[in-house]
Amino acid sequence: MNSTTEKRIALISVHGDPAIEIGKEEAGGQNVYVRHVGEALARLGWQVDMFTRKVSAEQDAIVQHSQNCRTIRFKAGPLEFVPRDNLFSYLPEFVENFLKFQKQEDIIYSLVHTNYWHSSWVGMELKKIQGSKQVHTYHSLGAVKYNTIENIPLIASQRLAVEKEVLETAERIVATSPQEKEHMRSLVSTQGSIDIIPCGTDIQRFGSIDRQTARLELGIDREAKLVLYVGRFDPRKGIETLVRAVNESKLRDSHNLRLIIGGGSTPGNSDGIERDRIESIITELGMSDFTTLPGRLSQEVLPTYYAAADVCVVPSHYEPFGLVAIEAMASGTPVVASDVGGLQFTVVPEETGLLAPPQDVAAFASAIDRILLNCEWRDELGKAGRKRVVSTFSWDGVANQLSELYAQLLPQSVKEPELLLTK
Ligand code: UDP
Repeated sequence: MNSTTEKRIALISVHGDPAIEIGKEEAGGQNVYVRHVGEALARLGWQVDMFTRKVSAEQDAIVQHSQNCRTIRFKAGPLEFVPRDNLFSYLPEFVENFLKFQKQEDIIYSLVHTNYWHSSWVGMELKKIQGSKQVHTYHSLGAVKYNTIENIPLIASQRLAVEKEVLETAERIVATSPQEKEHMRSLVSTQGSIDIIPCGTDIQRFGSIDRQTARLELGIDREAKLVLYVGRFDPRKGIETLVRAVNESKLRDSHNLRLIIGGGSTPGNSDGIERDRIESIITELGMSDFTTLPGRLSQEVLPTYYAAADVCVVPSHYEPFGLVAIEAMASGTPVVASDVGGLQFTVVPEETGLLAPPQDVAAFASAIDRILLNCEWRDELGKAGRKRVVSTFSWDGVANQLSELYAQLLPQSVKEPELLLTK
């Protein structure tokens, strides 16, 4: 094998397909993360294979994104969407197909980077079977999640056990914020090796258009006070808090206020049910004439929405990282976010936006108003947010840090000189 082949990484993301449309049920930050990390690593000379589960017979088994980067889909269980809490029993089939694929391609992945707890189980199996080294990113911690929801799923104890085992056995865990690392230590285990490498965003695309041009494109009035939400429809995203906060805004009856809630959903599925619930609150509060729900916003049109907004609100009950916050900041738009998890890392209060206690309608209303009522301050916050993202959260910067980490874990013989130098 030549050295290019040996700089090979398998990114495993069983439920988060990096090649599909983002913004629908269960397709969110993880899909974006894996896809962008994969493509940026490929630009750094890595041979990147991203593995995920096939959810319909129509899906291609292999999608080539660039010369060195592809998505590979395996059958694991039925060829249909399966909620992630029901996926665990199909994982042995995923591992089996992974091993078959290696045989066909005459490859052994000596390094795997797993994403979310199912994939961590797959990675731990590969470690047992063939000694693969493992890097793991949680994307969500069961120990944190189960503190914030009422109905604990049956799979909880399995998940908690797997999450503990991977922290203690993986060569390296990637926490995306100091807050996430702290949660791993206080709630999961004091053993194991954790590096902090944040999530990233596309700093060329987000930030490529100014507010008034964006408004012209979207047909939004120059004088409007525009509050934006982007994300999945899930009760834990706290959209209800945002709607109720906007209802309490001092600008509520000014005729200038606009609220846009962007995100995809499928009628009858859990996100469709949440969208219906949110829409009925909007109707009940008499907010329909200034609130729009445009559905899923493609990654192409998103920069225009972020740029058009006066403020982007991330009202999640919990957020391990929260890509939407840095996308808005990269677009020069201040963020009002819940004072939780990774949002405490990305949003600097009074500098790039404001933090409010989760589910606190009055605190969100007053934070949103402070920004809407002061355009100069809005612009200052926006500029500082953009600066923070450019310096800390670009995908290329993130991929560089991951590349250095992988290089430390590859067997000595396959390390390239430039990779050794970056250590
Ligand atoms: N997203 C999108 N279109 C939408 C809604 C969301 O492309 O209509 C993207 C959004 O831009 C972000 C991701 O989905 O990149 C959501 O990631 P985040 O970390 O904020 O939340 P998660 O979905 O992982 O909980």
